[in-house]
Amino acid sequence: MQKAGNATERYETGFVVPETGIYRVEHQKHQLPDEVMVLKGQAFPRCAGCNDSVLFQLTHAAPNLYQPSARIIYELPVIEAGAFGARTSATS
Ligand SMILES: [Zn+2]
Repeated sequence: MQKAGNATERYETGFVVPETGIYRVEHQKHQLPDEVMVLKGQAFPRCAGCNDSVLFQLTHAAPNLYQPSARIIYELPVIEAGAFGARTSATS
């Protein structure tokens, strides 16, 4: 019920994006991109690997990024472990 601040407000899959910008992605079950750009008016994308909600937190509002031809993301690709270099588990 805290509507005063906007820095920590979180949104989840299916919600309408209130503001074009970069959102931080939170999802427990799968490794998803850390950040995603979504456009105002579209729905927050879901996880490609499951139907569970993904949480989004606005990090950079970027209305200037809006382009009519911008690709709308409907789901977030699951990142395979190690595909982009594991950050949490260093393999030596
Ligand atoms: Zn998932």
